Amino acid sequence: MKARLNLQEYVTGILQGDRVVLAKAITLIESTRSEDRALADRVLETVLPHTGKSLRIGITGVPGVGKSTFIEAFGKYAIEKHKKKVAVLTVDPSSSLTKGSILGDKTRMETLAKHPMAFIRPSATGEALGGIAHRTREALHLCEAAGFDFIIVETVGVGQSEVAVKNIVDFFLLLMLAGAGDELQGIKKGIMEMADAIAITKADGDNVKHAREAQAEYQHAFHVMRTDDSGWSPKVLTCSSLTMEGIDDTWNTLSDFEKRMKANGYFETRRQHQQVSWMHECFESLIKIQIEKSARTTQHSTELEQLVLRKVITPQGAAATLFQTLLTSLKNNPS
Ligand code: GDP
Repeated sequence: MKARLNLQEYVTGILQGDRVVLAKAITLIESTRSEDRALADRVLETVLPHTGKSLRIGITGVPGVGKSTFIEAFGKYAIEKHKKKVAVLTVDPSSSLTKGSILGDKTRMETLAKHPMAFIRPSATGEALGGIAHRTREALHLCEAAGFDFIIVETVGVGQSEVAVKNIVDFFLLLMLAGAGDELQGIKKGIMEMADAIAITKADGDNVKHAREAQAEYQHAFHVMRTDDSGWSPKVLTCSSLTMEGIDDTWNTLSDFEKRMKANGYFETRRQHQQVSWMHECFESLIKIQIEKSARTTQHSTELEQLVLRKVITPQGAAATLFQTLLTSLKNNPS
């Protein structure tokens, strides 16, 4: 099949659940070429009525916690036991910065990747216009249009992308190790506050006891931390991807969450907020592109930086001047 398809080919392929076409469409939305971007927007627009029907799950945790093993186990469970189609999108902020990857995504989740009811897409790159979350959100919508019931968005748990991912999913699951020590708690606190559930991983063999202790500790921490307006109080589970112990608990927690949030209207409200904030993010990224395109603004910016450094003008004053330059350039070259 050729690398680039036309609008109809993308749309038909996606709606038929063709995984090869889906993968090509995601490549298209990640492209930075402006003609690709225009086609990507049309593809997204055309499939939009077919989106929204999945449960979107964010999964995070530090490297080594067992994310890929868990997703593989959970994905197979969802497919085999509940006949659900599962898509996995991974977001790895390291890959675009260092060209290396914390997630080492090539060899991960091999069995799940081969399953005809699964689709796995490694790292969105941060170089795409609008950033990682932007592209992941679009990829997520394409997967929904392709008929996937569960979309898992995996992040690496080091803090950069979790907030963004929280804003594109319905349920946020944090994987934790038992007894990982206090040095990791610093990064986890903020992330913990976003979690709808924590699963203590590797609860098998000698580790079961530690996992149970950690469960009690985190459950206690949640009691003192939060209940938000959704009325959901975060759950702490233990699980093993090797023995499959606790995988059904995780499933039941998810189902319970979905049922309750749909019943009280919070599910829809949250999605509506996310949709509106998507619009604003797009608007901001269009402004950024416009700024980058405006040679006059860039040139003026360099001059103003010098004036700020020499204390001739305040940073606020310089910003206001720069803003005027941008407005003038927009007026002269509307695009
Ligand atoms: P990731 O970096 O978070 O994706 O972690 P991986 O899924 O690659 O797992 C890291 C290591 O932990 C691997 O050596 C796995 O075999 C091991 N592991 C993952 N899940 C389990 C589990 O449930 N039980 C045990 N005992 N080991 C596990």
